Formats: sequence, C-alpha cells, structure tokens
Amino acid sequence: MNIYPKLIMDALEKVRYPGNGKDLVTAGMVEDDIRIEGMKVSFSIVFEKPNDPFIKSVIKAAETAILTYVSPDVEIKGNIRAVAPEIIRPEPDELLPDVKNIIAISSGKGGVGKSTVAANLAVALAGLGYKVGLLDADIFGPSQPKMFNVEDARPFMEEVNGRELIQPAENYGVKMLSIGFFVNKNDAILWRGSMASNALKQLISDANWGELDYFLIDLPPGTSDIHLTLVQTLGITGAVVISTPQEVALADARKGISMFTGEKIDVPVLGLIENMAWFTPAELPENKYYIFGKEGCKRLAEELDVPLLGQIPIVQSICEGGDSGKPVALNPDTITGAAFRALAENIVVKVEERNRNQDPTQRVIVTVK
Ligand code: ADP
Repeated sequence: MNIYPKLIMDALEKVRYPGNGKDLVTAGMVEDDIRIEGMKVSFSIVFEKPNDPFIKSVIKAAETAILTYVSPDVEIKGNIRAVAPEIIRPEPDELLPDVKNIIAISSGKGGVGKSTVAANLAVALAGLGYKVGLLDADIFGPSQPKMFNVEDARPFMEEVNGRELIQPAENYGVKMLSIGFFVNKNDAILWRGSMASNALKQLISDANWGELDYFLIDLPPGTSDIHLTLVQTLGITGAVVISTPQEVALADARKGISMFTGEKIDVPVLGLIENMAWFTPAELPENKYYIFGKEGCKRLAEELDVPLLGQIPIVQSICEGGDSGKPVALNPDTITGAAFRALAENIVVKVEERNRNQDPTQRVIVTVK
C-alpha cells in the first residue's frame, strides 16, 4: 500500500493531547516534517516544554493510532521525535522592560571620538525609524548635552503610573539623559566610583525611557568600576569599541575588548569602529590622507576576530557638528552623514543576527526515555 501524509494526519486526529483535550492536529502539535520512505514514517510532535509530563504517553498513543488506522505494517516505533522550544530565553531586562536592545559604546582611551560617534549613531538610528535613547554616562566629560543642543535643558520629574520619573531631554528623535545635567563637570570627576555608579543607575531605573528599540550608553573611556556596575545592572545586548587607527589607541582598544569578553563581564562585542580613519579635505573629496595610520582597526578586528562595523573619516564638519549641536548624521546625503547611516545599518544587522541566534522559538529535541 502507499502511505500519504494525509493518512498519517487523519490517524493523529484521533489522538488527544491530555494537556488541553484537543487532538494533536487541531492543537497544531504535528510538525510539518512528515517523511515517508516506503513503509517507514517519521515526523516530530511539538510540546510546549521539554519536561511536558505527557510526552511519552502522547508518542505511544500516536504510534498506536498510526498502526491501527493506517496499517499495522508502518515502521513507526522510535521514529516520532518530540521537540520543544529551547528553554534558555533572553531575559527581558528587569530595569528596562520596554527596551529591546542595549548597546554599550566604549573606547580604550579618551579623545578618539567616542561621544561624537555615539551622538551620530543615535541620530542615524532615529533617522532609520528606530526609537532611540542615549545615556551619557561619561562622567569625565559629559558632552552629549552640547552635541544635542540641549545644554540648557533641566530634566524634570513626572509622575508615571504612580512613580516619579525623570523625563529625558529629547532632540532629533533621540531621548537623552546626561550625568552633565545634574552635576557640574568639575564635581563629577571627583566622584568616587560608587557615587557615579549610583547616579547612573538612577538615570537608568528612575527615568521615563518608555519603549525603545535601541538604548545607547556612552561609557567613560577605559575600564572602570562604572563599566562593571553597568554591565552587572543591565542586560547589555552588545558593546561597540571605538578607536582611531593609531597604535597607542589600538593598544587600549584591545584592552577594552578583552574587558568585555572577560569572564567577569562577558558582554558580546558587536564590533570595532574606526574613527578618524583618514582625513579628506572638503575641496578634494577623493583624496584620503591616513594621518593616524592606515587600517589599524581593520587589522585589530581581524586579529581579534570581531567585525569592523565602520570607518569614519576626519572631516571638519563632524567636529563642527558636535560643537554646534547639529550632528552630521542629521543629513544622510552628505559623505559624513552617509558614513554614520551605513554604520547604524551595520549595527542593526549585527544586533538582529545576535537576537536571531537567541530566538526563543528555537527548538530542541527531547529525548524520550
Ligand atoms: P571622546 O568621547 O572619545 O573623548 P569626542 O567625541 O569628544 O571624543 O571627540 C574628541 C574631539 O574630536 C572633539 O572635538 C570632536 O569634535 C572631534 N572629532 C571626533 N571625531 C571626529 C571626526 N571623525 N572628524 C573630525 N573631528 C572629530
């Protein structure tokens, strides 16, 4: 006799799943992977949990139904697989339950353009249509209020669902809070690590960030207690490390990367960003001058097996955009704006790749003893 998938499905319609009283087909538990080779039939049944108490009895009942209603000669014993969703799920962040992705932006040393890149990346992500928040956690030089032209903003408290929350400043489609709004620059530098860490925790947990696709944290340069606290407080999706191609910067970038990948912190590194990759004069846009050396970050990325997410040239307008509070990423039609848009798109791809690898609907095969 010939066996068709329909015959198998008809037999499985006679089997009830005790968990909800429905038959296996109606309950959607039969995977679309029925294989028939002569009299040999194999397929999978999906259970909600790997430790579902009915796995064994349901598989037995399915075997019996096939032998009874299709043919006693079907080779089915041991050929039905039980599968269940993978139980390790990405935990939604407890402090920021409505935030999808948290990206730490860091650099091994100061002055490589970390804050400039963070601001432009935030603006570029918002330009791509994402809901974006930016926390300026750089206590040594909080520069985001200036770059977002909100230096005079004094974030106020607002009651949200019975809680008093700090309302972030907002410009260019980016919600932003900076440690610079609350302390003057000279005081912040003198803070002990724990004071700064606590203040930052408050800016995360007691602020009305709302729903965000991307929450960027502009970290202080180097490695410190603040990094440790933040990564232990938040479920960070991934870190990006910014460096110039210069040897001294690369040495520190290497330390930064190993901090994230180290046992204590263990945050995935999404990649390296090369800032000040080359100088291009406005009047000679085709010319590239490798002031800090050529492709240093590319080599480091290859050596450490992390992606190079983007290369941003030194251009006067990037510096001016920061100083005037109008990040170049606002205009993606310029060379500099396009460089930041490409960087943002690359980061989205990397984050989505990573999230896909942690897909909560991924299935595991359950061994039936
Ligand atoms: P960091 O946050 O690493 O200390 P900043 O973002 O404050 O560095 O940048 C340091 C200085 O370099 C700022 O004056 C900034 O405007 C300038 N800068 C950063 N990146 C670029 C670039 N790609 N082209 C021109 N100037 C830049």
